[in-house]
Amino acid sequence: MVQAEINTTLRQLPSVDALLKESTAMSMVTQYGRPATVDALRKALDAARARLMAGDTVPIHNRAILAEASSHLSTNFRPTLRPVINATGVIIHTNLGRALLSRSAQKALLKAAENYTTLEYDLDTGERGSRYTHAESLLCELTGAEAALVVNNNAASLILILSALARDKGVVISRGQLVEIGGGFRVPEIMQQSGAKLIEVGTTNRTRAADYEQAITEETAMLLRVHASNFKIVGFTEETPLADMAKIARERKLLLVDDLGSGTLLDTSKYGLDREPMVQDSIAAGADLICFSGDKLLGGPQAGIIVGKKDHIANLKQNPLARALRADKLCYAALNATLEHYRKNEATDHIPVWQMIARPLETLQETAYSWSQQVGGTVINGESAVGGGSLPGATLPTALLALDVSSPDAIMARLREAEMPVIARIQDNRVVFDPRTVLRQQESALLAAIRTVVSN
Ligand SMILES: *Cc1c(COP(=O)(O)O)cnc(C)c1O
Repeated sequence: MVQAEINTTLRQLPSVDALLKESTAMSMVTQYGRPATVDALRKALDAARARLMAGDTVPIHNRAILAEASSHLSTNFRPTLRPVINATGVIIHTNLGRALLSRSAQKALLKAAENYTTLEYDLDTGERGSRYTHAESLLCELTGAEAALVVNNNAASLILILSALARDKGVVISRGQLVEIGGGFRVPEIMQQSGAKLIEVGTTNRTRAADYEQAITEETAMLLRVHASNFKIVGFTEETPLADMAKIARERKLLLVDDLGSGTLLDTSKYGLDREPMVQDSIAAGADLICFSGDKLLGGPQAGIIVGKKDHIANLKQNPLARALRADKLCYAALNATLEHYRKNEATDHIPVWQMIARPLETLQETAYSWSQQVGGTVINGESAVGGGSLPGATLPTALLALDVSSPDAIMARLREAEMPVIARIQDNRVVFDPRTVLRQQESALLAAIRTVVSN
């Protein structure tokens, strides 16, 4: 095109003001606000102008400019934290946000969000109360502990315990438990950060009671057990039972702290899994303090839960770090609602983590079969993982929908582009979907996404 023609075409481009009068632009203003809409229209116009200047002869309609602005806005306004469909079968998937909350925990969150609450207010006296009271009695009732404290997450539990009770003192731990839990949480580094002195005993695979006893000096404050969480030592192994550690701690006047990681209030061995250590057992074995996560097998919100002896918990509450690591009202609301399910003995009916663990194989097979009827693929036997550092290596038998495709990676990438992104798994060069972690209300979106990627 000659320059004169380009100039003519450029002059025909609409103004931002003219575009704003179109109904699609008006609905963009309603949805995203005026400044962002004006900005997006301006960008779309600039792009059109640049194309014309470069000699593009395709006529530019207002509709196309508006569509470009709209797509720009929807991408820009899309939150980075988005719901996804977890078809991996990993129940406590740390990257996908770990435990889902029960309906009543969801409702409790909403209630605490929309109303003022008694977070730190005593209705009897009309005076200031303590947030620490909220989950405490329920946690004591369920675990048999004397006292309890909730903090932001379990990493915070350990930091608080070590800083408050072992600063500048020795903490004895088995070499087999000096683990890195993920996200850079390394036990030796946490100790250093907290000002505690690490005293390693035993070997990677064997630590006996005598190893602990020999390592204790005047400076020692604590024996610490850390659940290995994400790995398993097999073969020639020996760990000192917690009750034996408790006996040593009592005799030598030391604290015994047990970081259970996930911890559980229900017996996992009833569901065809290994027996994950239970919080109640650690209390009964004589640990002074036990800490575990709120959003692993407990199935609640992100939290660090510390239970144990009254004096030690009181010490922790008074430490200035407790203020920095404290749980918020939303956490307490969801945690209490979750704990209520345990109190009513209805955890497997209402807490998603336990519903998923308890889902019968026949139901999973029926679901996978019905999916295959609708979108093709074959149903194969597979394994679901509990995840979240609980029960390392343990799996539950499941049924998978398997798609034979030429490029599994490309299919996985396209599944992630769906409106409700689908996270699947590749197994033996096939894309597989595990019904165990897919919610009933997500099934139609999942099947629509699969249809889209297999049809073209
Ligand atoms: C997961 C885990 C933690 C960290 O808990 P968060 O709640 O993720 O902070 C600490 N210790 C052990 C043994 C764990 O498994």
